[in-house]
Amino acid sequence: MANVSIPQCEECTAVITENVSALQCDRCEGEGAWKCLTCLGLSEDVYQELISSNKLKWFCQECHKCVMTPTDHQVNNNFDTILDEVNQLLAIFNDWESRLTERVRAEVTAQLGMETQQWTTTVVI
Ligand SMILES: [Zn+2]
Ligand SMILES: [Zn+2]
Repeated sequence: MANVSIPQCEECTAVITENVSALQCDRCEGEGAWKCLTCLGLSEDVYQELISSNKLKWFCQECHKCVMTPTDHQVNNNFDTILDEVNQLLAIFNDWESRLTERVRAEVTAQLGMETQQWTTTVVI
């Protein structure tokens, strides 16, 4: 029971105190589910940056197994969906782009025609 109440790095078993930069498992938040900065392989700067931007998630070995498997699957599914959407958008964009190119060409031609006229007019005046 005693060692459960002491925050410890799960890898090197260093005791985590206020002076030790370490992460606690975001899932179980167990006292033994900590990892010190050295074992994380992060620099103090990176650690502070991640802490302040709230982007940091770390899971202990046990939770990692539970968390990562379904998430990976979901990420892959999402990724496929995103790819589909990107492909659809690309198809739309390609179609749109060819129409836009024609339109821009027509407008530029018209614009150039007008400018040439104005220029001609200016010269004449
Ligand atoms: Zn450690
Ligand atoms: Zn955990």
